Amino acid sequence: MGENLSTREVIEELSRQENKANKKNASENTEERKEKRAPRQKRRVCAFCMEKDEAKRPLYIDYKDSRLKKYVSEGGKIFPRRQTGLCAAHQRELARAVKVAKSMGLL
Ligand SMILES: [Zn+2]
Repeated sequence: MGENLSTREVIEELSRQENKANKKNASENTEERKEKRAPRQKRRVCAFCMEKDEAKRPLYIDYKDSRLKKYVSEGGKIFPRRQTGLCAAHQRELARAVKVAKSMGLL
């Protein structure tokens, strides 16, 4: 009798573990599906490229530009491109302008 009980317990324990595993898998699947369903962030257009028409030299960023401080942290660091949303050319130009502005004591 004792043996019978223990085998039943083992079977119950096994089925419990199976249930747990199934539940875990199910939740993982839903998470995966959510990730796939999540819409991709719209690509933002570079803020400096938007004003191409106004400026004669589209790539140039003035060191006196009041927008520069938007792209610089309080510690004086230039934000990375994934945060600024600028194009490669303007990010480079921004870095140059910020350096000039810092040397002039504007930032
Ligand atoms: Zn740009």
